[in-house]
Amino acid sequence: SIPLGFFGGIGGASKHGILVKGSHYLEALNNVDTIVFDKTGTLTEGVFEVTSIQTRDGFTDEQLIEYAAKAEALSNHPIAMSIKKAYGKEIDHNILDAYEEISGHGISVNVDGKTVLAGNEKLLQKHHVAYLPNEETGTVVYIAVDKVFAGVIVISDKIKKDSVEAIQLLKSKGIQKTVMLTGDNKVIAERIAKELSLDEVYSELLPADKVAIVEKLEAEEVGNGKLAFVGDGINDAPVLARADIGIAMGGLGSDAAIEAADIVLMTDEPSKLAKAIDIAGFTKMIVW
Ligand code: ADP
Ligand code: MG
Repeated sequence: SIPLGFFGGIGGASKHGILVKGSHYLEALNNVDTIVFDKTGTLTEGVFEVTSIQTRDGFTDEQLIEYAAKAEALSNHPIAMSIKKAYGKEIDHNILDAYEEISGHGISVNVDGKTVLAGNEKLLQKHHVAYLPNEETGTVVYIAVDKVFAGVIVISDKIKKDSVEAIQLLKSKGIQKTVMLTGDNKVIAERIAKELSLDEVYSELLPADKVAIVEKLEAEEVGNGKLAFVGDGINDAPVLARADIGIAMGGLGSDAAIEAADIVLMTDEPSKLAKAIDIAGFTKMIVW
């Protein structure tokens, strides 16, 4: 049987928009010493804006944005949403064929009979397209048309205001290690980690790399220490399922992520994690 206090704890948490799927996760929260965050949509808003367009010979800005928006037509990734917003026109899905969204890479699709790639450097490398690396501070989306590098679209995301406070609160509650994982580039990742005073940062990762890092960090835990992973659920369902405690953001997150998670933060605020730890501590007090 489940001690009554746990029901109180779960009920109390739900009043704060924190859904806990079972009493043992509250108990585990009491022993958390490492918190691993996904970047996009978790520590950052996940709402990108196009900040610059740089084309190669033979392509105009308008053409580049049009190819990119059409390539992203079927994606709901935050990057795709920002590119479609910048394009601003309706897209006829009948012009699309052989659509492929490769997590941690981007999109490959036939647009009006041309093969368009929209994604990061890894995507172009995978398709053997020669390109010029771009050092811009922002998330750089590389575009290729029929294997020819056409240019880049640079987009920027903002750190959530709540993230700064959340990390400070968690540290004050004795969390020993805060880590950020991201598929985004190293320059962006390190700038954000520094602004938030995170202890460790790993960038340019594929979903499988995120799982491997969480496994490594779990193996490093001492005693009863537990690891919590917090993600928005876009591309991170496997790692949510693998972590001691998988925590999903409820607003942006996909149904698959909410399914894979042990705890859901309905308001998308990382500081709710500090609240959940408080509630877990209080619940422990009334049970034992
Ligand atoms: P994060 O780890 O920050 O949550 P993702 O795993 O969702 O990011 O994506 C990692 C990287 O893969 C992105 O930074 C981007 O370079 C590329 N990418 C993923 N999906 C797309 C897409 N739909 N369009 C363009 N690039 C994408
Ligand atoms: Mg993500």
